[in-house]
Amino acid sequence: MECEDDNIISTLVSAPETSLFNVLTSRRIYSFYPTFFSQRVNLETSTIQMASRWRASIRPFRFGFTTYDTVSLAYLHHPCGEGCYSLTRNVLEMEGISRFRWGGISGKYDQDEPHGERSPPDPFESLDIEWRIGTRCRNKTCEFLHLGFMG
Ligand SMILES: [Zn+2]
Repeated sequence: MECEDDNIISTLVSAPETSLFNVLTSRRIYSFYPTFFSQRVNLETSTIQMASRWRASIRPFRFGFTTYDTVSLAYLHHPCGEGCYSLTRNVLEMEGISRFRWGGISGKYDQDEPHGERSPPDPFESLDIEWRIGTRCRNKTCEFLHLGFMG
């Protein structure tokens, strides 16, 4: 993805597919949909139509995952968890976002030594940015099935 803003998170949370919600920074790796990522599941988000004009020339890297859209999500046979279309999430709370320290380019940070130096949080972790990838979940095994249902 390309970001022309100072804030990469606003671009990230507008991504057309959840497989793109992964970030590598100079000291950490973030996965915004770790449950789906571990299950090799990719969801198309509500921004997929906006991104469709780019589809002819650019195909997203999907890690070989199974991709679902709002209709086929009904056939996902396990709960959505933090990745549900119906949930509004927030970067500030970092709830449901996996963070892994990798020691930085120099490798001097975040080692398992008792007095080892810890890398500071990335600045975007303190931003109050909410996002939601869809409106209504159709997954029958999801506890949030009826959220966002307008009749
Ligand atoms: Zn759901």
